[in-house]
Amino acid sequence: MESTDPPPFFWPIGDLPEIGPVPEILHSTYLEGPFRTCAVCEERLDDGRVYEIERVFRGREPVFEMAICLACAAKVASEFSRESTEAIRTFLQDRLTLRLDEGCGVCGRIATSGRGRTVSGIVRRGALVLPMLTICDTCEEALQGLLSEKTRRVQGDFIDTHFPGVPAGLDRSPTLLLG
Ligand SMILES: [Zn+2]
Ligand SMILES: [Zn+2]
Repeated sequence: MESTDPPPFFWPIGDLPEIGPVPEILHSTYLEGPFRTCAVCEERLDDGRVYEIERVFRGREPVFEMAICLACAAKVASEFSRESTEAIRTFLQDRLTLRLDEGCGVCGRIATSGRGRTVSGIVRRGALVLPMLTICDTCEEALQGLLSEKTRRVQGDFIDTHFPGVPAGLDRSPTLLLG
């Protein structure tokens, strides 16, 4: 795609086939089952729209979860600084491997107990359209470290607005859909 602005997504998401049901690790703790609505627009997710699920674990304990639809993710992404969008894209393109095990998609290490990791998936009609992705805390911090002050503020505001009360340091946003 040729344009002055980078395209918001490098995954050709709309065309991806559904590859399998959403595994339990990407189910909602709160709902005790699959996510049903977008955390931002609160619309139903089962109408064929693409959405991203993100869950953060400390060891085996889930400490944060969200499902956000493509349109809402794009809106958050549009507030990121240009440099940050580029940095995320480059980081994911250069370093990410989609794996079939639970290893970190960046460094390959399997998270050991007590360490944190973020597990995410891109979903449509209750099915994954890309292999699930795990990123360990070390690599997540490396990615966060590339982001501008402005972008980190956008992430912080996003979490404060939609997920009040989550522990500090979880300034996540739907990264996969932004890459
Ligand atoms: Zn939404
Ligand atoms: Zn890693």
